[in-house]
This record gives sequence, C-alpha cells and structure tokens, in this order.
Amino acid sequence: MKIAILGAGAMGSFFGGMLAESAHAVTLLDIDAQHLDAIRRDGLRLVNGSRDRRITQLAVSRPELLCSTPDLLVVFTKSLHTRAALASVKQVIGPETFVLTLQNGLGNAELISESVRPERVLIGVTTWPADKLGAAHVASHGEGKIRMMCGDGVHRPQADAIAHALDAAGLHCTVDDNVWSAIWEKVAFNAALNSLCAVSGCAVDQLGRVPDGAALALKIVVEVLDVARAKGIRVDQERCASTVLHAIETHHGHKPSMLQDVLARRRTEIESINGAVVVAARELNVPVVHTEILLQLVRLVEARNTE
Ligand code: NAD
Repeated sequence: MKIAILGAGAMGSFFGGMLAESAHAVTLLDIDAQHLDAIRRDGLRLVNGSRDRRITQLAVSRPELLCSTPDLLVVFTKSLHTRAALASVKQVIGPETFVLTLQNGLGNAELISESVRPERVLIGVTTWPADKLGAAHVASHGEGKIRMMCGDGVHRPQADAIAHALDAAGLHCTVDDNVWSAIWEKVAFNAALNSLCAVSGCAVDQLGRVPDGAALALKIVVEVLDVARAKGIRVDQERCASTVLHAIETHHGHKPSMLQDVLARRRTEIESINGAVVVAARELNVPVVHTEILLQLVRLVEARNTE
C-alpha cells in the first residue's frame, strides 16, 4: 500500500516506521526540517520493547511537495494543526484515498470531511504510546491496539484491508463499530488528567497526593460521559473511572502531552478535548462545570505562555 503520514512526530514516525518495516511504501510528511533531514540522512531510529533499529526505507517530504496520491493518508498532527496540514496535501488526495485519524480529541473527523468524501474518512482510537526523543528518534513501549471504522458507520472492504495492513505491521488493529464509545471514553480520560496536570504542573501520579485530585478527575469523567450519553453514545463510566484511578496510582512521573506542551510554551489540544466537550454540552443542555473551569484555566495558561 502507498501510505503517507501527515504529521510525523512521535506517533506518526512510530506508525510510519512500523508500516515501512512491513513492506509498505511510506512517506513521512512534516514541517520539521531538522527531523526530516535527519531521517533522510540516517533513517529513523525506532525503539520499542527490546528492539532498537534504524529504518532506512522511509521517504520524507514537506506536505506541499508531495506529488503522488497515496492509498492511505494517516493524520497524526496535533488536532489544532489538522486543518492547515490537510490543506497542504489537498493536491494529492484522490477520490480513492482513505484518510485515517487516530488523533486525540473531538472534531478531527469532521474537519477531514470538509475536504475528503465522507465515505473515505476512517476514524479510530489507539492505545499505543509514543515519544519523540530527538530528531529522527522515536520510542514506544508496551502493547497497544487500534480500533477503527468508517466515519459514516458503513462497512467497506477497503477499511478491512487497511485494518489488516495495520495489524500485520504489529499494531494490533481491528474494525470496531463501537469506536465512538472508545473515542469519548478517551476524551473523558484526557479531559480529566491532561487538563488537571496542565494547570497544576503535577505528573499524573501526583494528582493522588490529596484526595481532591482524584475526586476532581472523576467529576470531569462523569460530566464528559454525561455529554456522550446525551448524544446517544453508549459509554462505560465504571471502566473509564477505574482507568483514570489506575493511571493516578501507577503513572509515576508521567507528564501528559498537555503538560509537556505547556512546559514547552506550545499551544495545547485543550480546544478539541475540554473545549469540544463544552460546545457539545451547551447544545445538549448538559452541565459540565468542572470541565469548563479546566478549559478556562488552560486557556489562561496558554495566554500567559504566548505573551
Ligand atoms: P507530536 O507533536 O509529536 O507530532 C505532531 C507532528 O505534527 C509534529 O512533528 C509537527 O511538526 C507536525 N505538524 C504540525 N503542523 C503540521 C503541518 N501543518 N503539516 C505537517 N505536519 C505538521 O504529536 P504526537 O504525540 O505524535 O500526537 C499526534 C496526535 O496523536 C495527537 O492528536 C495526540 O493527542 C495523539 N496521540 C498521541 C499519543 C502519544 O503517546 N504521543 C498517543 C495517542 C494519541
């Protein structure tokens, strides 16, 4: 399969590397010249589990310079960059190109559908983690999985073939009609832990130092899942709450991406996480007081950081 990865940071490079190792023709598209130059020169150093290798068969390009149409475009920018990134590859998105988003937050599929036929949009969620350790150097750990489906809910053999390709590359992928449940449960997890860590400066386990930390996280989970249910999405509140508590107990020293972004004075994904939940909650008349306060606090932190 001819695959282009739009946004080749931690996740995009990890996925691209795994797919290239599985004999697909992969092009990494990014605007980070240092990262692209280093991959072009030395290949991508990819570490996962006990495997540490260089992948040299990856093509790299600035998005706007890509000139061949991929069968599959995987979007892995941060959500706030989705629109600009897609605009820069519109010249190569053909009528048969499938576009897959496994980004966090809400609204990515809708943004993609503005420029891609809805029946070619694939949505999903992944539990794989990845970190960028330097130019041309990414790492993942543990075992993750991907759940995906066609954004319009229709079963298509091409979606099965794409899921099979991801699975055969070792990324453990299944087509699953319940992806919206997984997306909302992940949004609830991120709305709680990312925003609390971003404003407090706490690593995830430090939220457990006072009972208020976990209690506040659980209130946000309840609010977000109330919105999901009001939209008619079946979600498992007990499972989501216990995942959040488990993270607080065990993710020692882990700084979620929103805290990392704040510390690096970058804009965060708050608008597509807490922000999108608040927008949906207003439409459906669901109270989300804590989620909204965290949204406002993260906006304040971002404003201070960009002064
Ligand atoms: P990242 O910041 O490491 O990578 C994003 C990349 O997008 C960067 O290399 C950046 O240069 C590039 N980019 C920005 N604007 C661009 C543009 N206009 N055109 C092309 N490239 C552009 O982020 P990440 O950690 O890889 O996360 C990507 C997405 O996946 C996010 O939505 C994140 O929430 C989600 N996610 C991350 C993890 C994780 O463990 N890192 C896990 C699951 C989901």
